[in-house]
Amino acid sequence: MPPYSDFRSDTVTRPTEKMRKAMAEAAVGDDVLGDDPTVQKLESLAAGIMGKEAALFCPSGTMANSIAVKMWTNALEEVIVEERSHIYNLESTHLTFISGVTPRPVRSTRGVMDPDDVLANIRKPNVHTPRTSLICLENTHNIWGGAVVPLDNFEAIRRLADTHGLKVHLDGARLFNASQASGVPVKEYSRCVDSLMFCLSKGLSAPAGSMLVADRERIEFGRRLRKALGGGMRQVGVLAAPGLIALTEMVDRLKEDHARAKALARGIAGLPGIVLDPATVETDIIIFGFEHPDLPVPAMLGRLKDKGILALAVGGGIRMVTHKDVGDEDVDRAVKAFREILG
Ligand SMILES: *Cc1c(COP(=O)(O)O)cnc(C)c1O
Repeated sequence: MPPYSDFRSDTVTRPTEKMRKAMAEAAVGDDVLGDDPTVQKLESLAAGIMGKEAALFCPSGTMANSIAVKMWTNALEEVIVEERSHIYNLESTHLTFISGVTPRPVRSTRGVMDPDDVLANIRKPNVHTPRTSLICLENTHNIWGGAVVPLDNFEAIRRLADTHGLKVHLDGARLFNASQASGVPVKEYSRCVDSLMFCLSKGLSAPAGSMLVADRERIEFGRRLRKALGGGMRQVGVLAAPGLIALTEMVDRLKEDHARAKALARGIAGLPGIVLDPATVETDIIIFGFEHPDLPVPAMLGRLKDKGILALAVGGGIRMVTHKDVGDEDVDRAVKAFREILG
């Protein structure tokens, strides 16, 4: 057993042996000059999987989202975001910093915004108010504990966007988790949006990188924006090579992460202090309230760490994520640790 079972995030996944070998052997060129064959292969594979014309390999999901907002908006405009979304809460305010737009947060139920609430927040421009130009969706929804946003909500938001001349961007950092959990192909979500980004670096286990996907013309503009933001990389086929393996070999196994998250949730729900309905755990993320008379959250995390379990504090509660590098034995170890501390 390694010293720690690391449940802090699915971003801690290490590349597989096969990925490391592919990195060592990758055919490369200068990608800023358009010469890297491995990046080109990854970009066309990603576009094909999502049923769109083109894709752009980005260093991070945050940069891909930043480029997406910038490519669909102008200064003085407003973007509708879900109030707990990653793009609004956890990306260091690039909407204002890079795009010069204001976010307009809309409440939701587990990441699902009521189309009537979205409609009520679409603003008609006049001299006093910004024009709404973009709606951002997120699936799975990170802060809502990996909740899956259903396809019919995507379809309803798409209809609304079309009626009002708006674009829709999907933060699909974990779109493959949503698809594995719901059985809805990623292309179905993709067809409802103008652009989407997904991460190779989370449950799919590549060391770095996210893909931005849209029509060809918009992605060519995105390529210029990526350069402007300092995201043009040279022989980056060494990072695209594990991305190819992530997309071709690591998607189906996400189901195992979901099963383990559910097992972990069932194992700890009901222990003193833990506020968690295991039925709400749909994918790899578990977020639960922790209200214990003698143990504040930081103290609880310290006790868990003493027993080899790493977890994260989030908004008064605790977050744990399952992934490739935590197996059944790590889940058992975590359940045992919680029972020893709280039982
Ligand atoms: C991780 C994440 C991102 C950003 O990806 P980074 O590569 O960490 O910048 C965006 N959206 C969601 C929902 C995420 O979970």
